[in-house]
This record gives sequence, C-alpha cells and structure tokens, in this order.
Amino acid sequence: MSCPSPLDAATLADYWLALLPAAAEDSVEQHLFECDHCGARLREAVSLVDGIRALAREGSLRMVVSQTFLERATAAGLRLREYAPAPGGSVQCTVTAEDDLLIARLSADLQGAGRVDLCLCDGNGVEQRRSADIPFRPNSGVVVYQESMAFAKAAPTSTMIVRLVAFDEAEGERLLGEYTFNHTRSLPGPGAW
Ligand SMILES: [Zn+2]
Repeated sequence: MSCPSPLDAATLADYWLALLPAAAEDSVEQHLFECDHCGARLREAVSLVDGIRALAREGSLRMVVSQTFLERATAAGLRLREYAPAPGGSVQCTVTAEDDLLIARLSADLQGAGRVDLCLCDGNGVEQRRSADIPFRPNSGVVVYQESMAFAKAAPTSTMIVRLVAFDEAEGERLLGEYTFNHTRSLPGPGAW
C-alpha cells in the first residue's frame, strides 16, 4: 500500500474529531474512500484520538469540542451533563459521580470574529485563565466547552463566570457573551459544605 499524496496526521485527527470545514471534510472522505493506505493511517490516528477521549473521560482536559465529538462520546456510552445558559444569563449547575463529561454550550454571534478567546473568571468576574484563539465555526452560533471533570468534581460550591471575547490586534477585545455558572457541590469530600 502506498499513497502519492498522503493525508497528514493532523488532518486525519481533525477529520475524526469533525473539526474540518465541510469542503475539506468531503475531500478527505473521498480520499479515504479510495485509499487503503490513508485508511490504515486513520485507524492509527483514531487510536490516538481514543487516548484523548480516555483523558477526557478521566476529566483532566479543558477544551473546546465539536458537536460531532459529543455525538460520538454519547454513542460510546459516555454520560454527558450539559448546561446552556443564555448570553448574559446564569445557570445552576452541579456534577455527579456518574457524569463522564461536563459540557457548557455557550451561544454567541461569532460571525466576523477573527480570533475568539475563552476566559474563565471567578465569581467577581476577575479573569483567572484564558484559552486564546479557540477553534470555532463562525456560522455555528455556539462554542461547546468541556470543563475538566477532575476540577469540577473537586470544586467547592462557588460561582464561575465564563466570557467569550473576540480579539483584534487593532481594536482590542469585544465581549461576545458572558455566562454565569452557580456551581453546587454534590459530592462528599474536601470542599463540600
Ligand atoms: Zn492516501
């Protein structure tokens, strides 16, 4: 088996995670349909991706994920807990021992944004950490964020504010949406009330 123009590993991984734009996805799909060599390489990539998924299940990753990733995770039997506060709104949330993934759906108008940052803030709105230049689809109207399950399960009852901002070198920041998570701890252990 050989291939004159093999798909690169990053493309294969993005394909599996459904992160490719539609046109690129179609051409990769067509290539894989015809090419056993790259099909075998996709299976290798998938085993790497499954490693990432195992990490996600253990909950050590904070990351932006795709709708397709969630569908595959659900199909694989993972239990999702999802919250979808409106922009400017708040939601009561918690996490239980049975949950595998903790997901926030952050709806926002992303059109026209060149770079989008996701900021995690404390209950007073003071930024604690920032994921710069997150992946997003301009027309999707939503960013799906996976919180670290290890963090959430250990967190005390507290409030976290998440902000999506568009960032532009010339114009600075523009708020796309702010979302308040009033977290109630439901697991015993340190930090529990
Ligand atoms: Zn190929």
